[in-house]
Amino acid sequence: QAKAQGRNTYRYYTESLTRAANARLSLESRLRRALEREELVLHYQPQVDMRTTRLTGIEALVRWEDPAEGLIPPDRFIPLAEETGLIIPLGAWVLASACRQLQDWIDGGAPPLTLAVNISSHQFAQPDLALHVDRELTASGLSPERLELELTESTIMQHNRRGMEILEALRALGIALSIDDFGTGYSSLAYLKRLPIDKLKIDKSFVQGIPEDRNDAEIAATIIAMARNLNLRVLAEGVETEAQRDFLHQAGCDAYQGYLFSRPLPAAEFARQYLR
Ligand code: C2E
Ligand code: MG
Ligand code: MG
Ligand code: MG
Repeated sequence: QAKAQGRNTYRYYTESLTRAANARLSLESRLRRALEREELVLHYQPQVDMRTTRLTGIEALVRWEDPAEGLIPPDRFIPLAEETGLIIPLGAWVLASACRQLQDWIDGGAPPLTLAVNISSHQFAQPDLALHVDRELTASGLSPERLELELTESTIMQHNRRGMEILEALRALGIALSIDDFGTGYSSLAYLKRLPIDKLKIDKSFVQGIPEDRNDAEIAATIIAMARNLNLRVLAEGVETEAQRDFLHQAGCDAYQGYLFSRPLPAAEFARQYLR
């Protein structure tokens, strides 16, 4: 009896493990196919000057347009792409498409916006990242001062000394570097001071609680003060309300992005709303 039960438990676990592995495998092969068939799309979210609400930049955010499931958000496939190495071709596609898109818009008379592109940890560690970025700039014709790469604190710290070298090689191309989701990692002021970066992006988890949550408000204000002391630009992400924007403005934040101004938009929609 006990033995039979043990066997059943065993079988149960094996089956559910197999199911999980299969689901993952099918997601992986579906994502691989989506890349080949160009079923990924970029949406663009405006970044605006806090004081004037002038559009100064855009962040490219990838989505998967699955013929059956519809639009799949990046949180559902970026981690898997990162684990399987698919992030390398995927990231290359994002960078190339976004650079080409912005250059197209500039050729069409758009103001000289900056383009922010997210770089994952695995991509960051590719030995030829700077060379690759340089090639994409040349191929698209986009001028380096138009491009900004977003990295997280943990991405940079994971790679230690080499992380610093990679940052310097990227910076030498003439592009800008920003730290995404800032405040969720463990960078000390001393560490931050040594990094060759241009901007901090305050993580939206702190913006969400402003102004009611005293801790969130305090953290956001501290990040802004710190950025100013280090001569870094500072942008708040995830700004949804006027109260949040007003608080951040008062605290000295330079720029923001968030639903208050605009959601990320498909390229055609973005062009229709902001580039005429
Ligand atoms: P992230 O880079 O921190 O991007 C900000 C996320 O906040 C985006 O989610 C954006 O749509 C969302 N957001 C913007 N404004 C608001 C707001 O007012 N309220 C709220 N609640 N959310 C807002 P999204 O597009 O789902 O992207 C999630 C994450 O996926 C990104 O976080 C980034 O880490 C990753 N990701 C997106 N595109 C790429 C990519 O091309 N490459 C890589 N490596 N990662 C990407
Ligand atoms: Mg980002
Ligand atoms: Mg972020
Ligand atoms: Mg994030």
